[in-house]
Amino acid sequence: MIRKITIIGGGLAGAEAAYQAAKSGVAVDLHEMRPQVMTEAHRSGFLAEMVCSNSLGSEEITSASGLLKHELRLLDSFILRQAEKSRVPAGSSLSVDRMRLAEDVSAGLASLPGVRVIRGEVRDIPAGDSPLLIASGPLTSPVFAAALTGLTLRKNLFFFDATCPLLRAESVDFSKLFAASRYEKGGADFWNIPLDKEQYEMFAGEVVRGETAEIQEFEKRIFFDACLPLEEIARSGPHSLAFGPLKPVGLVDPRSGQRPYAVVQLRQDDLKKDFYQLVGFQTRLKHGEQKRIFRTLPGLENAEFERFGRMHRNTYVNAPLILNRFSQSRKDKRVYFAGQISGVEGYVESVASGLLCGLFAARDALGLERPELPEATAIGSLLAYISQADWRDFRPSKFTFGLLPDGGIACRDKKKKKEMKAGRACEALEQWARKAAI
Ligand SMILES: Cc1cc2nc3c(=O)[nH]c(=O)nc-3n(C[C@H](O)[C@H](O)[C@H](O)COP(=O)(O)OP(=O)(O)OC[C@H]3O[C@@H](n4cnc5c(N)ncnc54)[C@H](O)[C@@H]3O)c2cc1C
Repeated sequence: MIRKITIIGGGLAGAEAAYQAAKSGVAVDLHEMRPQVMTEAHRSGFLAEMVCSNSLGSEEITSASGLLKHELRLLDSFILRQAEKSRVPAGSSLSVDRMRLAEDVSAGLASLPGVRVIRGEVRDIPAGDSPLLIASGPLTSPVFAAALTGLTLRKNLFFFDATCPLLRAESVDFSKLFAASRYEKGGADFWNIPLDKEQYEMFAGEVVRGETAEIQEFEKRIFFDACLPLEEIARSGPHSLAFGPLKPVGLVDPRSGQRPYAVVQLRQDDLKKDFYQLVGFQTRLKHGEQKRIFRTLPGLENAEFERFGRMHRNTYVNAPLILNRFSQSRKDKRVYFAGQISGVEGYVESVASGLLCGLFAARDALGLERPELPEATAIGSLLAYISQADWRDFRPSKFTFGLLPDGGIACRDKKKKKEMKAGRACEALEQWARKAAI
């Protein structure tokens, strides 16, 4: 009997999958091209490197990301366990020191018996009979992406995503900012730049007029809904930024005792507090323009940029056409797609997809049955969604409560309804895990 699986890509999904498969008693060959071949976003050769924000989202169970993480913990997620060790303060969210997390995951996997990390770019689909898990991510190397088109029935789709700028802490004048979390959830974990109406309008105007990097024809096709560039939001209306990334809700400036007209938030990026991210400032503005415009904000007059915001590509397959509910290729049952390339969107969703695919592929290798995940669970509803969505208009998806069926839960109070759905999801997942002996 075959007792081995091959994983291509040691990112968030591939690393989680490798751990789950090894824990199930299956040998794992994990292929990672870095550091020999780098992507345009990764900075190291470590596995499971988070490439942009350091946040894994809210911990509250009535938030989509909170419920998903809760389920992942129920299933013993390796990445989430490691994330606890590199946690940095961020209110009610789980934010981490990204490099520390990547280092810990790499060391943890290297010490697992049965896991072999093989460095180098995979350029073709490996032959063989054992289960193959493709987790090469949104920045899949172009050569491998071309090889994948043989499997995916139609060409991969490409679209663009945006990354937010990173500031060097020593260059920020914190005396002009105030520290607080929205609605005082958590400690004073964010630094806030308060803006009055005039300052806001000036800033928003500069963002609208700012020069952006040229967009190629193929980049125009699809925009990334959950991560719109700052200037696109600003262009959609004079108040859009104040209702979007610059919204002041839940924040009072202690010096004036008032809620500012708008607020720019800075979030700690590393444990040493050397870097801060401009929250929600993903952008296609040219680097010089970012420097000029963002330096007009109070406290950022002399800001130094560790990294500028930028655009990036995103590779994913048309999941409803090619995947079944196990995230397995309909055409070649040996093959699973995990992580962002499978059509899920986001760090936590990628970990979740990797966790399930690792378990499923391991069970295939062991000749065991794979019980279908209940749709009442966050993870189950996400996998069901990507395999059943409209293929003509398919976009990668985050988990939202809207994906969970109402089935018997009728409640007008939105928060209460979420609580009920979350409770039902956890129960269903526990039952599933017991039945599957996971
Ligand atoms: C620039 C950028 C910023 C993002 N920012 C956020 C964010 O802030 N928050 C969020 O929730 N999500 C974000 N995402 C989306 C997504 O959550 C992350 O990309 C996440 O890392 C996806 O996990 P993954 O395991 O699917 O891919 P990855 O983590 O990218 O892992 C894929 C791995 O495969 C390797 N690989 C690629 N091709 C080959 C090959 N041919 N052979 C061998 N190895 C290969 C890569 O080097 C990489 O290590 C961002 C995506 C991008 C591209």
